[in-house]
Amino acid sequence: MSSTAKSFSLFFLGPYPNPRDVIHCDVAIIGGGSSGTYAAVRLQDHGKNVVVIERNSFLGGHADSYTDPESGERVNLGVMEFEDQPLVHKYFQRLGVGLEPLTTANIYSESKPLDFETGRAVAGYPGYTTVAICAALKEYLEQAQKYAYLEEGFESLPYPVPPDLLLDFGEFVKKYSLEAAMVVIQKYTGGIVDVLHMPTLYMIKLLNVSVVQAILDNTFLQAGASGVSSVVYDNALALLDASPSATVLLSSTASGIRRRPVKSKRPGSDAPLMSIFTQTPTGSKLILCRALLVTVPPLIPQLPFLELSSEEKSLFSRFSYDAYYTGLVRDASLSRNTSWSNVAQDSPYAMPASPCVYGLFWTGVGDLWDVKVGADKGVEEEEVRALIMAAVQTIKRSEGMFADDDGHGQATEIVALKCHAPFQVTVAAQDVEAGFYAKLTALQGKRATWWTGAAWSQQDSAAVWKYTEEQVLPGLLERLK
Ligand SMILES: Cc1cc2nc3c(=O)[nH]c(=O)nc-3n(C[C@H](O)[C@H](O)[C@H](O)COP(=O)(O)OP(=O)(O)OC[C@H]3O[C@@H](n4cnc5c(N)ncnc54)[C@H](O)[C@@H]3O)c2cc1C
Repeated sequence: MSSTAKSFSLFFLGPYPNPRDVIHCDVAIIGGGSSGTYAAVRLQDHGKNVVVIERNSFLGGHADSYTDPESGERVNLGVMEFEDQPLVHKYFQRLGVGLEPLTTANIYSESKPLDFETGRAVAGYPGYTTVAICAALKEYLEQAQKYAYLEEGFESLPYPVPPDLLLDFGEFVKKYSLEAAMVVIQKYTGGIVDVLHMPTLYMIKLLNVSVVQAILDNTFLQAGASGVSSVVYDNALALLDASPSATVLLSSTASGIRRRPVKSKRPGSDAPLMSIFTQTPTGSKLILCRALLVTVPPLIPQLPFLELSSEEKSLFSRFSYDAYYTGLVRDASLSRNTSWSNVAQDSPYAMPASPCVYGLFWTGVGDLWDVKVGADKGVEEEEVRALIMAAVQTIKRSEGMFADDDGHGQATEIVALKCHAPFQVTVAAQDVEAGFYAKLTALQGKRATWWTGAAWSQQDSAAVWKYTEEQVLPGLLERLK
């Protein structure tokens, strides 16, 4: 027995803890990122009591931001755009956040193509006319439409799995002559280490019909005039804090969860409850809940607090993931309003090989540039920092400026760097073919536990909310009746 498990069972054998430290609720939500926050807001709208246990000191997960001490302005360090969908409008309205056309300077802004490896400007990039790119994107869209049902979730994946969904995406591109579309597609695949070898299923999930339509029609939205996505989560936190049926425990972690429900000792209550032993900044709490909603990525090392069943373990052990770093660079010598993209001339579709800096994109705030780095999960932060610094030096040389290492250049400072791993939690095509997702989605509701988040849906806020709303909450609410 591990020391955690030992203290946990002793805890339950011992006297009932101080009632002040016991929280009763209908649903305990582990993880207050995109899906956990959405679920909390919606469940309390349905009159359910919820407790959110979030490791960070803020809600929102990948929707993090940085406050520039010089200007006081906030800059996104992750999520920045949202799809123009009814559910997104409804949610933002509920939170009192406006939706505006995406205008903030970002990764999609015009940028100078530069090979960061050789330092050479790439003349004539992308080598396709806008008409050719749009035509290829429309062809992609036509293919994606065949699988529009996947927007509902992996629940709707048919068996046998359509063979095209199991193809390496690089093969799919060749099969349907989508080469010209790769110029655009690769901008939306940041953080995916091996785009060309991932099963096409994941591309169709990520760049689904709604997303491609939004690209073609240019209808992406941002949070309010500032475009700072953290505002969504600031408002959600305020809403939940003000609600008598919600408790948000920030900077908190579950250290042990007993999922075998036991009868409540509370007078007048006979519903079986699960117990969650939680560490919070104000001490240990015991959460007693009727159902559990786990939004943490379903990787075994991420779930030490759950005694996983053998079925859960065998499924979750199939997942692999990538790392995705986002950072901000301050450099007063770079020209504002200018951005650079890393275009690897000698690679297929000019995609730089990981680990790589995708580019340096002016944020629109002072001397701050957004930098995104795709890396395999084993790559250390120091290596990422070195890659970023090298990229800035390359850019400066290409601009005919003195680089820092000449001793004459302006200093480059990485003022923020965030690792978004685990990102893109996926399985191999053989697993998909063998029915992995049928088995995975069958876990919903077992042991009074529900699951949501990007691994169950895709890396997209709107998709994760829709999945939570349509595939998770109905079953969960039914169980709570
Ligand atoms: C760099 C980047 C940019 C992106 N940009 C966009 C964008 O512009 N538009 C868009 O729609 N989508 C974007 N996405 C995708 C979007 O962020 C994800 O789809 C979404 O965050 C997935 O939600 P989630 O709830 O699964 O994960 P998360 O939002 O990451 O939530 C998981 C939460 O669980 C918490 N947690 C983890 N372990 C524990 C633990 N043991 N105990 C308690 N809490 C724990 C984490 O701190 C986190 O808050 C982006 C993603 C990244 C990484």
